[in-house]
Amino acid sequence: MPIYEFQCNQCGMTFDQLCRINWQGSVKCPSCGKEDLTKIISQVSGLGRGAGDHCSSCSGKSCNGCN
Ligand SMILES: [Zn+2]
Repeated sequence: MPIYEFQCNQCGMTFDQLCRINWQGSVKCPSCGKEDLTKIISQVSGLGRGAGDHCSSCSGKSCNGCN
């Protein structure tokens, strides 16, 4: 499942939210309860490298050894 990290624009708190693929619900800040949030990053748990990452040394798309 993708994990989204949000930052609250009201109080500045950051938190992770595990979301379903087609999730469209609202997210509220756990600190102040506002929905004024900025999505910072998304990542898929279990994968260390994001799609599109290339090794700068060998140009291997899934190299884990040389950089
Ligand atoms: Zn907040």
